[in-house]
Amino acid sequence: MGDLKRKDPEIFKAILDETKRENDNLELIASENFVSEDVMEAQGSCLTNKYAEGYPDARWYNGCCNVDIVERIAIERAKSLFGAEHVNVQPHSGTQANMAIYFAMLKPGDTVLAMDLACGGHLSHGHPHSFSGKFYKIVSYGVNRKTEMLDYDEIAEIAKRYAPKMILAGASAYPRSIDFKKFRQIADSVGAFLFVDIAHIAGLVAGGLHQNPVEYAEFVTSTTHKTMRGPRGGFIMCAKEFGKKIDMEVFPGLQGGALMHVIAAKAVCFKEALKPEFKKYQAQILKNAKTLCQSIAKFGYRIVAGGTDTHLFLVDLTDKNITGKDASTFLDRADITINKNLIPFDSKSPFVASGIRIGTPAVTTRGMREPEMKEIARLIHKVLSNPGDEKVAGEVRNGVKKLVKKFPLYKGLIRRLERE
Ligand code: PLP
Repeated sequence: MGDLKRKDPEIFKAILDETKRENDNLELIASENFVSEDVMEAQGSCLTNKYAEGYPDARWYNGCCNVDIVERIAIERAKSLFGAEHVNVQPHSGTQANMAIYFAMLKPGDTVLAMDLACGGHLSHGHPHSFSGKFYKIVSYGVNRKTEMLDYDEIAEIAKRYAPKMILAGASAYPRSIDFKKFRQIADSVGAFLFVDIAHIAGLVAGGLHQNPVEYAEFVTSTTHKTMRGPRGGFIMCAKEFGKKIDMEVFPGLQGGALMHVIAAKAVCFKEALKPEFKKYQAQILKNAKTLCQSIAKFGYRIVAGGTDTHLFLVDLTDKNITGKDASTFLDRADITINKNLIPFDSKSPFVASGIRIGTPAVTTRGMREPEMKEIARLIHKVLSNPGDEKVAGEVRNGVKKLVKKFPLYKGLIRRLERE
């Protein structure tokens, strides 16, 4: 890392401590992952210096010959990965990618049908403090009270009632697979655009383990940093006919210069995702999620929607007399990182929540498999069945230490940083 330790010791120390935290903790936040060293190398490169407003071969700045190559490669790789006609890799985040679709296709006040946040939707799908909830009339669909799964007949009825201009599918905390073909039929029945946000499941889609919405939706957005295992950022896929409109909305509509170092890292991530090993990696994420989910259920916990088809699942803690907030705090003290989460029809506020969300992308990246998932379930149960017990937290911390030691994350990096 050059001379940072000497020149900016405070920041150096925070980076070193975070490197250790990531290595020493069990990371089970469903939206997080660990990128490869190649992704980090691209993101840490001199491309961070370059202004590149515009698009390849049509820039507002000179000297873009090299970043043009990078952006073109990123676009081509994403196209072949998902079978998309047009790709924009410039959105700085998933939310900005989503914003570009709203702004390009709707007028303020237009009606959007999106998934209820309390049932798993994302903030940018209509939260009152998000641009989406402020500028548009949001009507929402949830999940069936009994099955806690999407009820496509009910969604079709709501669509008929409100005649939305756009229907948004995709979620942050929905454990089951989503039928985009059915969403297409519903959108067609009311003459709406279909917009699918695959921020969470993009890796599964790229690995052929989840239905690909690109064949069904006019617009598909995603992040690159969750199951995709790339840098933090967003991208957009759409049919050729909408390409110009979307590009104009991203730049100059919403952003200035693209982050070319991040686009280089996105390109590296897409190349990694095109390899056959990526498919195996995604399949292991799914196997791990199923095993962890079943193992936790065996300890007597209720799993929302009865299980998982994806990289994440939700545990309902209502009958355990512990809130999601307390559960996440106690697990944190035992070096296990998860997040509190609303469960469908939750009576608690989002800050407290009755559930927790657990995801397996990060532990799978470390190389953990089914036997480790069973051990993780045991450790989680030990904390949750002894809430706030510091002695138990210490014992679990030791268990976590033993487990993560067998799956080192940053081989040699911590030693190297400490030596510098
Ligand atoms: N869409 C969904 C479904 C998400 O889950 C998220 C993030 O969690 C986003 C969009 C937003 O991504 P970002 O945090 O990059 O804005």
